[in-house]
Amino acid sequence: MTLHAPYDPDNIFAKMLRGEIPYIKVYEDEDTLAFMDIFPQSDGHTLIIPKHVEARNLLEMPTEKLAPFIASVQKIARAVETALSPDGLIVTQFNGEAAGQTVFHLHMHVIPVYKDRPRQRGHATGKPADMDALKALAAKIAAAL
Ligand code: 5GP
Repeated sequence: MTLHAPYDPDNIFAKMLRGEIPYIKVYEDEDTLAFMDIFPQSDGHTLIIPKHVEARNLLEMPTEKLAPFIASVQKIARAVETALSPDGLIVTQFNGEAAGQTVFHLHMHVIPVYKDRPRQRGHATGKPADMDALKALAAKIAAAL
């Protein structure tokens, strides 16, 4: 998928926003939804997506909608830090397949980094995580919001 293609309303994150497929929620407000990444790169890997937009990537995001989106990213990053005490946090996003993007609805990754643990897997690879473990992490992060 290049940087320039129509928005696919059947991408998995759009389906989550419509309630058509399940996800483990961490946080939701009028503008954003945050949930656990099902192929986490570390414990606490959380994704934040904007609602009410058809933006495949950052370039397509209406500028006036960026502030509430980034505010939620910061909120989640702070909650992950409080809940899980990582040594560092990666906050990132990819634009276009060539850059590593695999789901084409804008999203930001919050990936905790723990000095004593290697990252568990690469980007969007491997088997899905244990759902009970993800639910427990989501509850811890949500409690720190
Ligand atoms: P991207 O590769 O587009 O930057 O990130 C997409 C992310 O979505 C990846 O980290 C991948 O693990 C995650 N992901 C892919 N499919 C699903 C899914 O069905 N549920 C959840 N919660 N995350 C997913």
